[in-house]
Amino acid sequence: MLIVMKPDATACQIQGVVQKIESIGLNARPSHGTNHTVIGIIGNSEPIDPSPFIDLPGVAECVRVTKPYKMVGRELKHDKTVIRIGKAEIGADEVAIIAGVCAVESREQTMLTAQIVAETGCRWFRGGAFKPRTSPYAFQGLGEEGLKILSDVRDRFGLNIVTEAVDEAALDLCESYADVIQIGTRNMQNFSLLKRAGQARKPILLKRGMSATLEEFLLAAEYIMVEGNCQVILCERGVRTFGNHARFTPDLSVIPMAQNLSHLPIIFDPSHSTGRRETVIPMARAAVAAGADGLLVDVHPYPERALCDGPQALLFDMFRDLVAQARAIAEIVKQHSEAHIIGAAVE
Ligand code: PEP
Ligand code: MN
Repeated sequence: MLIVMKPDATACQIQGVVQKIESIGLNARPSHGTNHTVIGIIGNSEPIDPSPFIDLPGVAECVRVTKPYKMVGRELKHDKTVIRIGKAEIGADEVAIIAGVCAVESREQTMLTAQIVAETGCRWFRGGAFKPRTSPYAFQGLGEEGLKILSDVRDRFGLNIVTEAVDEAALDLCESYADVIQIGTRNMQNFSLLKRAGQARKPILLKRGMSATLEEFLLAAEYIMVEGNCQVILCERGVRTFGNHARFTPDLSVIPMAQNLSHLPIIFDPSHSTGRRETVIPMARAAVAAGADGLLVDVHPYPERALCDGPQALLFDMFRDLVAQARAIAEIVKQHSEAHIIGAAVE
């Protein structure tokens, strides 16, 4: 159930509704939009009777939420969520490009890559210090030493750091060193990790499980939001299908569909979803054209020697090209969506 407050409802009236909800043993989640405040009621297993709320001062209407996720859905919050760190934004006008190394392997490899990312004007740097690897014999990441290198990248280049937490202990460390904490595909339904991410005071980049439906994906985001962390970025990274010409199958239709159902930004990872350098730029173009709010891209100074995911890492020149193409396409998409909105207003 959502309680929509009147546009002129006072803080005191909002507080009155919150207290009423809590007095009957339920949880209230106010969300302050540009026009009005909406208070979500969560924690109920049975449908809620609206009658105790409808006549409270400042209440405009009570709306039943039809979707299983509440915090994540557009019903609770219509305006799009924008993740902001300083001047860097995800979910706003510009396409947000998060680029860097798959794994932090050395200071040299990481700094060389960060230099290129900074030169292109991107504001976000990715790099794994804890790597979820299929084989226990594969390189598992440098751990805290890798996080220190990433922290130095921030100091030297002013880039915001995005890094993956593979478990709760890693999340504690990532929270203190990084700006955005990534939850990977294999952990999308690790519910204790999602709950811990919900208590973090940093934005969470949540990757779609490789066989997760959109509803499961959104419910995983709900786990984070219900704990109090509303800064979630969704990331499509390809799903498992019978197709074996690429590492995974990019599911680009999930981008507009997620944007329809949810106010959260959604970005696309063309690197992990195809696993092949030569398909990264074409799929990135397609995702931006489909309206993705950003991209997550692997880059490496010498991919043939990479300890993790070398075949999908872009060379520096390719990366510069990708950034230019993604920005050009995003500009066209923006002009067209603005034209659409203006057209709708005139009708
Ligand atoms: C990654 O981004 O480094 C990663 C391991 O991705 P995924 O969880 O999508 O496989
Ligand atoms: Mn990788």
